Amino acid sequence: MNLLIIGAPGAGKGTMSELILKNYHLVHVSTGDMLREAVRNSTPVGLKAQEYMNRGELVPEEIIHDIIADRFSHSDIDAGFLFDGYPRTRNQAEDLDSILKDMGKKIDCVINLNIDDEELIKRITGRRLCPACGEIYNVYSNPPKEEGKCDKCGAELIQRKDDNLDSLKVRLSEYHKNTQPVIEYYEAMDLVRHVEASGGIEEVYGRINSILEGLC
Ligand code: ADP
Ligand code: ZN
Repeated sequence: MNLLIIGAPGAGKGTMSELILKNYHLVHVSTGDMLREAVRNSTPVGLKAQEYMNRGELVPEEIIHDIIADRFSHSDIDAGFLFDGYPRTRNQAEDLDSILKDMGKKIDCVINLNIDDEELIKRITGRRLCPACGEIYNVYSNPPKEEGKCDKCGAELIQRKDDNLDSLKVRLSEYHKNTQPVIEYYEAMDLVRHVEASGGIEEVYGRINSILEGLC
């Protein structure tokens, strides 16, 4: 099974991806996570990408093309994938199509998480992450048991550099301008399943799971 998960910043792509991976044996490919790791390691890609990311802008297409092409060179992806945060532009969607075509693969379903901008602001400004194990929290809706500490591993929680109001405004406008057309692109192929993404984590995941059960 090959899946894409699309949604505005804060719609819950990361949280829902984690839950999907607990239940389905898929390779998770998050361009955001890959880029953040490149930034942490100060690789050439990281050094080029970090300014764009901090401002909330999309990073240049050739960078994304290269990290995706590199990811497809690892055969683990043959088991099925879950792409999260990619493709984010019409150009990336066309690029992905041509890569998949060459490999004899196809996308089975595009999950689009729908939510209104107001709720996103709460989710993004309240978001905290565990740098050690990757667990995601929210100080309003899903706080850790002890303030500022990861329930799972005890590490000190951090906030993403782009999780502030200024960057969020840019991320939202990038989303509406560039990523909305990606949804339309896949809609024309009849691949999109819309999921209402407001509500509790389990509730939203339940909606996704019933779609995925229908695919298996
Ligand atoms: P979110 O969807 O919450 O904004 P992501 O972790 O998916 O977060 O992405 C964080 C940042 O990484 C984006 O704002 C952008 O700068 C960069 N990025 C991630 N994926 C892509 C992509 N496919 N194309 C261009 N830029 C990307
Ligand atoms: Zn942790």
